[in-house]
Amino acid sequence: MKEIVLVKYGEMVLKGLNKKSFEDMLTKNIKRRLKSLGRFKITSAQSTTYITPLDDDIDLDEVTERVGKIFGISALCRACICEKDFSDITEKSLEYLDDVLSNAKTFKVNAKRSDKAFRMKSPEICAELGGILLEKFPHLTVDVKNPEITVTVEVRDTNAYVHAGSIKGAGGLPVGSSGKAMLLLSGGIDSPVAGYMMAKRGVHISAIHYVSPPYTSDRALMKVETLCEKLTDYCGGIAFFCVPFTEIQEAIKDNCKEEFFTIIMRRIMMEIAQRICEKEKCQALITGESVGQVASQTMSAIACTDAVCRIPVFRPLVGMDKTEIIEIARKIDTFETSVLPYEDCCTVFTPRHPKVKPHLADVEKVQNSFDFEPLIQKAVENTVLKTFNYSE
Ligand code: ATP
Ligand code: MG
Repeated sequence: MKEIVLVKYGEMVLKGLNKKSFEDMLTKNIKRRLKSLGRFKITSAQSTTYITPLDDDIDLDEVTERVGKIFGISALCRACICEKDFSDITEKSLEYLDDVLSNAKTFKVNAKRSDKAFRMKSPEICAELGGILLEKFPHLTVDVKNPEITVTVEVRDTNAYVHAGSIKGAGGLPVGSSGKAMLLLSGGIDSPVAGYMMAKRGVHISAIHYVSPPYTSDRALMKVETLCEKLTDYCGGIAFFCVPFTEIQEAIKDNCKEEFFTIIMRRIMMEIAQRICEKEKCQALITGESVGQVASQTMSAIACTDAVCRIPVFRPLVGMDKTEIIEIARKIDTFETSVLPYEDCCTVFTPRHPKVKPHLADVEKVQNSFDFEPLIQKAVENTVLKTFNYSE
């Protein structure tokens, strides 16, 4: 029996004339994600993408697992392909759903007929197929309100499809449909979640990470690389920029007042990220900041950081509690990696008493007392690029 994966669009159904470009982006993302699993025919019609396996040995569980993490999809399901003929629909349903129905207590039949030329109307399909299933599986009862299994028949343009209900998709918009932005990715809990959230809005993510060896270790960098790799499940390929930050941090330590260390460091991070954005055509920065979480994330501190930014800074976690952020981190499987106890450059030379409400004029005065420009240029020049593709 031939199976297919049906993918239903999320928000992009509302895109009117632009819908086609979102659809093309989604198809491209699905193709890339499934490439290593075999050959597929991928087509779109009526706000649905059809993923038809062309090889016999394709692992459809793995296909649905992967497709379930692709943004732009509201729901997906594995279905059996039938002729547009009621007796074929019945025959295939009995065989295809044998296992699920044998193990269920309640069910209902749901029919959708987008091909209005099909001779039976939806309620007729439901009643007839429902009756046949009850006969074949006498232990079942019909429950229209809260059934365990919803047997769904979709009569579409070329075929009919039968399945036992859909699962929720990842939502959002296809990655790439909203442009490209640079995620400041630390090894912490927050920034991977921030990247996931912006990718969900269709933003293609590049990542930048600052390292300060020997104060930060190789293991700390490897941890961030692992996070990057995990994010590819949702974000697609990620260009990862690793910035040598030691000299800058030492210069801050040697030349600036201690209470301003963190805020000046953050301003320089933003400056470097923007220069790489220019080269990489990224239109915004993304951070994992959340108001009030630490001293550098008070409104005054964020204002001082933003003062050096020439492009928008997206902070998708800005109004979230740590517990809410952790919930997402667990869902996207970054939490366990994030809590590994390796040091981040932010924890090197942390001031004992950071300024909680820094004034921009004071910060600028302290920062301008030393010429960081040559060090910034050097850091940008020595930044190393590594590309992460989908984890297999
Ligand atoms: P996270 O859990 O994401 O590390 P945090 O609560 O620890 O966040 P900070 O350490 O103040 O907060 O960092 C705030 C944001 O700055 C991070 O969310 C991240 O976007 C960015 N950031 C911090 N350290 C680095 C780093 N070493 N490389 C790149 N970005 C960083
Ligand atoms: Mg951190």
